[in-house]
Amino acid sequence: MRTVNILGSTGSIGQSTLKVIEAHPDQFQVGVLTAFSNVDRLIEQAIKFQPNLVVIGDPDKYETLKSGLAGTDITLAAGCDAVCDAAAQKSDITMAAIVGMAGLKPLMKAIEQGGVIAIANKEPLVSAGALVLAAADKHGATLLPVDSEHNAIFQVFEKDNAKSIDRIILTASGGPFREWNRRQIEKATPEQAVNHPNWSMGAKISVDSASMMNKALEVIEAHYLFDMPADKIDVLVHPQSLIHSMVEYSDGSILAQMGASDMCTPITNILGWPERMRTPGDRLNFKQINRLDFEDVNHELFPAVNMAYDALKEGQEACLVMNAANEVAVSAFLDRKIAFLDIHKVIIDVLEKREAASLNSLNDVISYDKVARDRAESLIL
Ligand code: NAD
Ligand code: MG
Repeated sequence: MRTVNILGSTGSIGQSTLKVIEAHPDQFQVGVLTAFSNVDRLIEQAIKFQPNLVVIGDPDKYETLKSGLAGTDITLAAGCDAVCDAAAQKSDITMAAIVGMAGLKPLMKAIEQGGVIAIANKEPLVSAGALVLAAADKHGATLLPVDSEHNAIFQVFEKDNAKSIDRIILTASGGPFREWNRRQIEKATPEQAVNHPNWSMGAKISVDSASMMNKALEVIEAHYLFDMPADKIDVLVHPQSLIHSMVEYSDGSILAQMGASDMCTPITNILGWPERMRTPGDRLNFKQINRLDFEDVNHELFPAVNMAYDALKEGQEACLVMNAANEVAVSAFLDRKIAFLDIHKVIIDVLEKREAASLNSLNDVISYDKVARDRAESLIL
């Protein structure tokens, strides 16, 4: 029996993680569940999975949580510090599935207690990758990638032949606007942006997929997770999302991982690691696939991908600022305060105005991130 703590259990990744756990009741028990505001779903999950500790980030929801779980012996808490304390609880596996930089502090706490850290929450890696990796090293935690592309690479990455890897190829669906022109994209609504053709995901990552910022973040994520320089990371649009990514070796062999567009597969892969378990999710049926298509990124309409390569060249500050400004701008777009193409403008503006800094500690990162967010907010008001 392995204990799994889930940070962000009510989200898309959190729910799929519980689906995998439910399919293997003899192998896993849930230690901790945390969420920010969806208290009703959190209560349902707690009743079903009987964790030791349940934490709601939003203190206003604490009374509802308490009454919903009255009579159980589950320990309850509320607030951001309580989410961090929950992340510090000992577990065999922590699923880091909070969205955005809000997940950074809990992630660091989870790393300090060790074990396997299944990492879906890509933003902390983008903004503070070196710090996260150094902490994992120091505390003996094993970081394993849940993001489907990085999980695919993880599965076909021959560690002993790392020197013979010519490049890794991240596939991208191209998102819901892949075939749209600029005039259409200018008028895109939040509903259209979150309507992803292949994947069902949280709102923020869905908007990121529409702008291709998701792939931009993933280039930086891959750089840290696989210790690959930017010039060995390629992006290829593959609209069917069935090849989840590939590694090309010097002998010309390309190893790809395929599967249905269902996050249960990468989650099952990581929860089961180093063994293979049965997924409760969808399977790929080759008889239903007529073709696999590939095309280049349209960099003119989707400049985010090149922005990530530039940011990687410029260093951590640029990566952090790009992510922070994007988080603020995406949230403003979802609140209908700015148009879709303004997301890019906000990021460029904040990037241009950034000042030099040295980001050697968690506190450095958090304060620099706050400055970038404040700048982005000031552009939106
Ligand atoms: P989501 O919005 O569906 O869920 C986010 C979870 O985080 C929720 O449980 C929410 O309560 C919690 N949360 C949000 N803000 C919080 C805060 N301030 N403090 C504490 N908890 C907070 O998001 P998602 O789609 O599940 O994505 C989660 C992460 O995984 C993101 O970083 C995303 O990029 C990454 N990811 C998601 C997918 C996917 O298919 N959904 C795929 C790959 C990577
Ligand atoms: Mg991905």
